[in-house]
Amino acid sequence: MILPIAKLPSKVLRKETEEIVFPLKKDIKRLVLDMLETVKKADGIGLAAPQVSKSLNMALIYLTESGVPPFMLFNPRIIKASKQTVEIEEGCLSMPGVFGLVERPKKITVEAEDLEGKTITLTDDGWIARVMQHEIDHLNQTLIIDKFKNITKGEELLTKYSEKK
Ligand SMILES: [Zn+2]
Repeated sequence: MILPIAKLPSKVLRKETEEIVFPLKKDIKRLVLDMLETVKKADGIGLAAPQVSKSLNMALIYLTESGVPPFMLFNPRIIKASKQTVEIEEGCLSMPGVFGLVERPKKITVEAEDLEGKTITLTDDGWIARVMQHEIDHLNQTLIIDKFKNITKGEELLTKYSEKK
């Protein structure tokens, strides 16, 4: 089922997320499938549960166009980040049309649980690292609007997404 995507200023994007416990409950397994369908339909490259109005500590990385099979991160934490940073233009499905430069560590190591509850460790310094950091930010109620160095596109949409109303 395709789920509606929460957009700013929706408060759910700023709500604390709940840890995922294993074995996964039926409704979480269903949510994984729904998130897959939703990100595909939205033409996204990642989706965090709060973006589909679920305050749960889980996110989907969907970089199939870069040849990476889709994978889930449950309770992810960044355990290592490089001093070297890179500035890359990012957008967000929760703020469509707005793009800006975001500075982040180039290389990170993430620890998370997989679908079976097994702890996995992932290290990357390319797109996967980028998208994982963006999604983990969502799980910690941080949005790119908090991090923009400058806006490259869609500045006129900012009033629409403003949380100060
Ligand atoms: Zn986002």
